[in-house]
Amino acid sequence: MLYSKLFGKTKKSSKQYDSVNATLLTKSGFIDQVMAGTYTYLPLGLKVLNKIEQIIREEMDTIGHEILMPALTPIVNWQQTGRFETVDVLMKTTPANIFAKAKNDTEYVLNPTHEEVVTPLAQKFILSYKDFPFALYQIQNKFRNEPRVKSGLLRGREFRMKDLYSFHTSEKDLKEYYEKSKEVYMRVFNRLGIGKDTVIVMASGGSFTDDFSHEFQTICDTGEDTVFFVKSKNIYYNKEVTPSKAPKVEYKDEKILPRKDVRGEGIIGVEELAEFLKIPVEKTTKTLLFETDDNRVIAAAVRGGYDINEDKLRKVVKCKALKLASEETVKKVTRAEVGYAGILDLPKSIEVYLDESVGNRTNFETGSNKTHYHSINVNFGKDLPLPKKFYDIKVAKEGDLYPETNEVYKVMRASEVGNIFPLYTKFTEAFNYKFIDRDGKEKPIYMGCYGIGPSRIMGIIVEKYHDDKGIVWPSTVAPFQVHLLGLDMKDESIKFKVYQVYKELIKKNIEVLFDDRENVTAGEKFSDADLIGIPVRLVVSKRTEEKIEYKKRNKNKPELLSLNELLTKLKIKS
Ligand code: ATP
Ligand code: MG
Repeated sequence: MLYSKLFGKTKKSSKQYDSVNATLLTKSGFIDQVMAGTYTYLPLGLKVLNKIEQIIREEMDTIGHEILMPALTPIVNWQQTGRFETVDVLMKTTPANIFAKAKNDTEYVLNPTHEEVVTPLAQKFILSYKDFPFALYQIQNKFRNEPRVKSGLLRGREFRMKDLYSFHTSEKDLKEYYEKSKEVYMRVFNRLGIGKDTVIVMASGGSFTDDFSHEFQTICDTGEDTVFFVKSKNIYYNKEVTPSKAPKVEYKDEKILPRKDVRGEGIIGVEELAEFLKIPVEKTTKTLLFETDDNRVIAAAVRGGYDINEDKLRKVVKCKALKLASEETVKKVTRAEVGYAGILDLPKSIEVYLDESVGNRTNFETGSNKTHYHSINVNFGKDLPLPKKFYDIKVAKEGDLYPETNEVYKVMRASEVGNIFPLYTKFTEAFNYKFIDRDGKEKPIYMGCYGIGPSRIMGIIVEKYHDDKGIVWPSTVAPFQVHLLGLDMKDESIKFKVYQVYKELIKKNIEVLFDDRENVTAGEKFSDADLIGIPVRLVVSKRTEEKIEYKKRNKNKPELLSLNELLTKLKIKS
């Protein structure tokens, strides 16, 4: 391709975005921001995206069949699974809906994921045990009303996703396929050049199961996720499910003191409270009241400095859903204004769940359940009974220990490039999709879903592969393999030679971007080549005489080669 004809060239000055990938991809002419979280892929960018998707496609073809489902779906499919109410990022197409409702009494949504389309689709075609298992996938645009889009391609409102769905006649078969998909996924990430930094992480399996799902997280400082690593076991947890034990707090020679209720009007946050009471934050206690879906009111407490993990709490409490108690409930239960709830003297009807970080302390603070009051010097066995059991209901944080081995976690930032999820019968049940077994009976169908984010991956590759001059594409996803620069092209003989090299490369099926511009300085061409980041740079100029200068983007030293030597070298590499 001739660079002079390319739509979307490098920009001399370009906006600094909140991430390296957005800044570099915009400056070098790969993408253009339409609005926050929404991008156009320019010719160079689309080439990279297509290469990423082609690698994914080749690997997915070994375990599934490609289809293409629509982005737009009738609302009723989402109502059928109950997710119309629960998926907060669901894009409702309000103006189109007003029109569609008036005309056809229907409404639409833009799909953030496709279980609601693929399950009824499968149901139309495959019912007999003979046709199981099977898997369908697509690579397509997804829409999510993300509350905060950021980091360029890493979190968009419209983005690319490969989503695969597998269907099985037994849980065992689902599990086998699920394990196989992990291998296929790692092959994809290896081919994309991010394999060595990508780890399999245990994550929440959703509210319908105690099982984990698995995320493929690429270790990367720009990532939004926090991964906790247990070295001795070689396992990784997403922060949201990390089992956590708080480091012990010990204060030397502390004597048990008598409980005291201190007036502290309007002092509510633990930091502010610790300062006011002149005690360390670890001595404060954060107590929250929750209402469960089965109409219980429960109290949960963690040591100051921690937050309650609602997912962990829900599992301990054994309910399907819980939410923070209303102001009215808090007032009724604690007989105090909101902000003074504590674990002392609560009504007997309230179940109390204490995190293990609350124990192991002497002379600690807790809300007094009395408006404006906090109690200090509280001790188990004296001011309140030692509970039969402490739980792990907190959000893990750096410094925490893995409870089984007591080792301190290594904590890393990461970005989720893929996610696999055992769905069991959640969606097949919602659509009443069953198969007919050998014995003629209807039986449940087990499902799994498997996502990869090609556009996010494109961003992550740039985050991982760049230097102060620009992008350094891995050759498997580079828009071109070779960037040919013609310098001194006003000299007819050089111009002739560089075009000859260009034609020869094309003849040999080598993907080449030829910077054929005649009114641009050598310096500009070199810096554009570094910015765009194609793996091999070739130069034909007065200085190279009969030869061609060859330099890899990630190496400093150029070599002078004859055309034949060059072709052999590129062939070997490709
Ligand atoms: P996250 O936790 O990052 O919001 P998710 O778990 O909601 O992601 P999935 O539904 O598992 O995402 O989607 C499959 C893949 O799609 C993710 O692993 C990720 O690579 C990609 N992805 C998800 N949301 C976005 C987004 N807003 N922008 C770009 N890529 C995304
Ligand atoms: Mg996910």
